[in-house]
Amino acid sequence: MANRVINFNPGPAALPLEALERAQRELLDFEGTGMSILEHSHRGKDYERVHVETIGLLRELCGLSDDYQVLLLQGGASQQFAMVPMNLLPVGRSADYVVTGAFAKKAYAESQFIGKTRIAATTEDADGTFRRVPKQHELQLDPNAAYVHVCSNNTIMGTEYHVLPDTGSVPLVVDMSSDILSQKRDFSRFGLVYAGAQKNLGPSGVAVVIARKAWLAEGREDIPKIFRYKEHAKENSLFNTAPTFSIYLLRNALSILKREGGVDAIEQRNRKKAALLYGLVDENPEFFYTKVERESRSIMNPVFRLRTPELDAKMVAEAKEAGFVGIKGHKLVGGLRISIYNWITEEQVAQFVEWARQFARRNA
Ligand SMILES: *Cc1c(COP(=O)(O)O)cnc(C)c1O
Repeated sequence: MANRVINFNPGPAALPLEALERAQRELLDFEGTGMSILEHSHRGKDYERVHVETIGLLRELCGLSDDYQVLLLQGGASQQFAMVPMNLLPVGRSADYVVTGAFAKKAYAESQFIGKTRIAATTEDADGTFRRVPKQHELQLDPNAAYVHVCSNNTIMGTEYHVLPDTGSVPLVVDMSSDILSQKRDFSRFGLVYAGAQKNLGPSGVAVVIARKAWLAEGREDIPKIFRYKEHAKENSLFNTAPTFSIYLLRNALSILKREGGVDAIEQRNRKKAALLYGLVDENPEFFYTKVERESRSIMNPVFRLRTPELDAKMVAEAKEAGFVGIKGHKLVGGLRISIYNWITEEQVAQFVEWARQFARRNA
């Protein structure tokens, strides 16, 4: 078997070995068709089965009603920063943004190109970092806003909403790139949710959009068709050539998630993983330190630091020697970030925590 490391990369991130091995097995001859899935037409019935199965898995795992549409689009989550206001911010209306991190800020900035955009709350510190998400009472919501945009998990800052804001009758739009399907969420509360697949779901190259059908139908038509949700919806995400291989790998991964008990089971595992890591931090307050407020701690991206940047760098280097990669914090924040998305196992986190305890002892 390949010599694989324990991969805590923030995205693209670890994938289940079984999904990769299936792709390897099927790469040259997909289901007896004599060609690779990479070579199949996106309009042919062999690829179509994969496409339809992927959308069906997402519907089932998210618990969607018939009122919701699933779209598989290119351009990543960043393209959604633009597509959301292009489609759903009508001329003369305003949109509310809650700024809780680097990606939320980018979403806000993109919307400003399209129309009136307000900050309903920000938790930015004087030093440009974010230690928490806001409480409901801190939100200054415009009751006439076209929508409210939030980022459920701040991948770089290591903060997460454990309960998403209540926006009343104003549709809630959620960038769920780094925590979609990590825990049970009630999708009937959302107007639109989007996520780049490469963190918590599957490979890069495809973004998942889930939205209320009736709202998409009201979308603006004064924008190019390629950016219109309603066109992609009408063609079931085959408006143009789909990212077929990314969707195929996403299908491979999601089918494992379903077989292993779906979101309820993965949520339990994810909470145990996060408890192991925060346990490490909390039991060694002299050695590990996190700026993130306790109620805002992310279960996907625990972020912490050591006494000095030199010691952070030493831990990153020695971890790599020991087979744990991807633990360096984002440059905006420094320190360490251990991304423990869906496909990281409890066993892998336990191994890392054991190693980190020894590192702390050696360097106390
Ligand atoms: C990674 C990330 C993005 C950007 O995703 P791309 O697919 O690279 O555009 C946006 N939002 C969040 C929360 C992310 O973690």
